[in-house]
Amino acid sequence: LSDRLSGALEKLTGKGALTEADISTALREVRVALLEADVSLPVARGFIKRVEEAAQGRHVVKSVTPGQQVVKIVHDELVKVLAGEDEEPGRLRIDNPPATIMMVGLQGSGKTTTTAKLAKRLKEREGKRVLMASLDTRRPAAMEQLAVLGTQIGVDTLPIQPGQTAVQIAKRAKTQANLGGYDVVMLDTAGRLSIDDELMAEVEAVRDETRPRETLLVVDGLTGQDAVSTAENFDGRIGITGCVLTRMDGDGRGGAALSMRAVTGKPIKFVGLGEKMDALEEFHPERVAGRILGMGDIVSLVEKAQEQIEAAEAERMMKRFQKGRFDMNDMKAQFDQMLKLGGMQGIMGMLPGMGKLSKQLDESGFDDRIIRRQIAIIQSMTKAERKNPDLMQASRKKRVAAGAGLEVQDVNKLIKMHRQMADMMKKMGKMGKKGLMRGALS
Ligand code: GDP
Ligand code: MG
Repeated sequence: LSDRLSGALEKLTGKGALTEADISTALREVRVALLEADVSLPVARGFIKRVEEAAQGRHVVKSVTPGQQVVKIVHDELVKVLAGEDEEPGRLRIDNPPATIMMVGLQGSGKTTTTAKLAKRLKEREGKRVLMASLDTRRPAAMEQLAVLGTQIGVDTLPIQPGQTAVQIAKRAKTQANLGGYDVVMLDTAGRLSIDDELMAEVEAVRDETRPRETLLVVDGLTGQDAVSTAENFDGRIGITGCVLTRMDGDGRGGAALSMRAVTGKPIKFVGLGEKMDALEEFHPERVAGRILGMGDIVSLVEKAQEQIEAAEAERMMKRFQKGRFDMNDMKAQFDQMLKLGGMQGIMGMLPGMGKLSKQLDESGFDDRIIRRQIAIIQSMTKAERKNPDLMQASRKKRVAAGAGLEVQDVNKLIKMHRQMADMMKKMGKMGKKGLMRGALS
């Protein structure tokens, strides 16, 4: 979530059941976060109501704060809304060949690109014979564009015949599909920069002529609020069976997904993740939910913590970090926990902004075996040395190394790592006051 949200959540430190005050404080901020992610206002309101109901009276898990837990509830509700019911993402109703898939949407939303991506996917994954046809009669270049993509991906396109109307082309495509034994006909309709009557009338006529099995609305995932009115209009007039969100590789927050889903009740089937022909994926509700909340995988971290970290220990550590204290005992406790949580990589991978560090660790070959070795070194230290690593001069290093059955340079490495971790923990502790572990480590 936004920094503001994590800040607000940090204030909630109560124990026991989630109180109404806890929930409403958190939800006020969640609402702001949703709006910042371009979710439309009525949709955000409706969603918050759902979460309120889901959160009432839930018990606070010991090792996480109520704020974190509300985030988890928000996340779970988001996934529920985004996923809908009984829908398998990426499935299309295209039995009974030739089945028509009509692609609709505004100009520039990514219709033509998505048509080709989807054709490629159907061909490669489902072994379908696909025929694509461009109905964009106003822009000859658009027809050419689809033909070029067709050649590139090895999918047939209907030969271009100048002077035909969209309906005539659609009819010809159907005939051709019947004759040629195609499984799927994909119709790439024309778009406009904004919704107008002429566009809608044309798409309606094509729909009535071809009776598509799937009518997929292609929407630019970066458009946010506008996506809602686009979806309302197309669904109201044409009747869509699903959506494709494009440009989800960009840095939009993906709020459009929630709005579209809530407004039309229609599933999001695919997301576009780039300009390349392979950059199409079935829709993953969890990923988009995480993105709307903007918290990296903090939710799954909370989940793991719920399962595994003892509350008292976690709290004790956080307090120490906040005071800037981090000795060898703390380091050992961290190592022990790391082993529990699936190793260093597992943890680092979950924290936003930790990718770089995780990669460094990876390159240095830092794995569980090495974590165990570090623990052995710490165990060879005296109490005083653990409390005050600065005591570790040459003779002590030699003794500790011998005790752990390792070299002095291994001890040096551990000491260096301790220093780095102590710095990191100090930063984390500071952030713990301001917010969750967000951002500052990147
Ligand atoms: P149309 O007017 O709706 O047919 O839109 P096009 O398919 O011609 O796409 C317009 C532009 O958006 C092209 O430059 C595409 O390469 C680009 N585009 C389409 N889908 C995506 C996507 O998922 N990610 C990115 N980054 N670009 C996309
Ligand atoms: Mg186009």
